[in-house]
Amino acid sequence: MTKERVRVMKFGGTSVGDAACIRRAAEIIAAAAAEGPVVAVVSAMSGVTNRLIEAAQASSTGNRRLAAELAERLREQHQTAIEALVSDADRRTELSGETEKIIEHVTGLCYGTALLRELTPRVLDEILSTGERLSARLLANTLCEMGLKSRAVEATELIVTDNVSGRAEPLMEQTKVKAAARLLPLLEEDSVPVVTGFIGATAEGMLTTLGRGGSDYSATILGGALDAAEVIIWTDVDGVLTADPRLVADARTLREISYNEAAELAYFGAKVLHPKTLRPVSEAGIPVWIRNSFAPERHGTKITATGHPTARGVKAITAIGNVSLITVGGRGIVGLPGVAGKTFTAVASADANILLISQSSSQNDICFVINSDDEARTVEKLRQAFAIDLAHKAIEHITVNPEIAIVAVVGERMRGLLGIAGRTFSALGRRGVNIIAIAQGSSEYNVSFVVEAGMMREAVQSLHSEFGLQRRASRFESVTGESAMATV
Ligand code: ADP
Ligand code: ASP
Ligand code: MG
Repeated sequence: MTKERVRVMKFGGTSVGDAACIRRAAEIIAAAAAEGPVVAVVSAMSGVTNRLIEAAQASSTGNRRLAAELAERLREQHQTAIEALVSDADRRTELSGETEKIIEHVTGLCYGTALLRELTPRVLDEILSTGERLSARLLANTLCEMGLKSRAVEATELIVTDNVSGRAEPLMEQTKVKAAARLLPLLEEDSVPVVTGFIGATAEGMLTTLGRGGSDYSATILGGALDAAEVIIWTDVDGVLTADPRLVADARTLREISYNEAAELAYFGAKVLHPKTLRPVSEAGIPVWIRNSFAPERHGTKITATGHPTARGVKAITAIGNVSLITVGGRGIVGLPGVAGKTFTAVASADANILLISQSSSQNDICFVINSDDEARTVEKLRQAFAIDLAHKAIEHITVNPEIAIVAVVGERMRGLLGIAGRTFSALGRRGVNIIAIAQGSSEYNVSFVVEAGMMREAVQSLHSEFGLQRRASRFESVTGESAMATV
């Protein structure tokens, strides 16, 4: 059986949100497993990871109440699902026991944190791994109930990472060896491994996590390691849409896009994909599908090396909120050598990721955008780095504007299409959206710019209609070259 190439199927939080969703996921897996080998990757049930973070943070201040509440909620959510999904008495007892053990373990970690009033990154990762450890067991047991062979597998046994807690990177060569050694024997005996998404471990066995939303990445890491035929990411929307459906009601599903476009979209805020998802599979050309677990009959979006062969121009509009614009400026900045170098060295030392950079020498400033979570640390490092320049007034200010958003216009074949930037800015001007800063990558896969946070929705909606991306027939011809019928 393992001579056939495996399919990796990942189910996100909402796709395993309750017993009915888990059953639906199991049915999708069962249908696929009847055709060939399948490895499932699963996220925590929806809401669980957020609650784990809240409990961990409250514990670090000495507050044990949230941890106690967390344990109750986890028990209620998982035991209710077990009762609905697992009728075999022995299996149910065993699964309930394992579930309880995992909940006791995380409660213990939170109480320990509350005693010490210190939350180390390593303990936080261990706490955060709880959701996936619980859901993988639930899904595997549901598959067994349906008569399949299945078992939950901890990704700590498969995915080898560096030791950066909270956003670990996979070490692919070691991962290939471990994943094959652990998973191929299971596939050989026609079993479906259900792997915990989001987590990995260092070569020494220390648990790590891959960053929020990281289960998408787990799926493609395993897809790459096993040289899968395809990776299918099952989620709660029909695929990659022309805009976030929460911002644009008539956003349309894209039928096929390229790795580059998908990566750009993910990087600029399309939550449907973790930004690093395409990395482990693009070189080998393994296709990635985004499909709706609530409507599995729909086509979904296929992500390939070339994307849609004829589609040109703007494919989608994305937006990122919760970001801050930092400006380092002053009249002396033009003649002052090394300001850019010093600025970005300071940002790097704060461990902050820069999402967009823009420099305007006429206004004598350098500005860049980072996640708001990194803001306080970054400003502190900048003030230290420029302490002398600030004292001498060579640098006059380091300012922060947290009330902004990044909006990006994305599409691979925008390159060479004249006038996209012009149309973008005229459309925004007509709607009264003020542009605070602009950046265009040299790849020309995107034009991105900063607007006031309150104008984000307006900006996305106006550009979505300017470029004719909406679902229904419009008087504008769709520049993506796809018919609305084919993609809805
Ligand atoms: P999962 O739990 O399955 O990982 P996520 O919540 O992480 O799902 O991602 C899916 C969500 O991403 C959708 O419900 C949608 O609101 C949001 N989203 C944002 N931008 C896009 C886009 N361009 N296309 C599709 N979904 C998007
Ligand atoms: N459960 C993790 C999170 O919420 C990983 C994921 O869902 O992809 O971030
Ligand atoms: Mg996700």
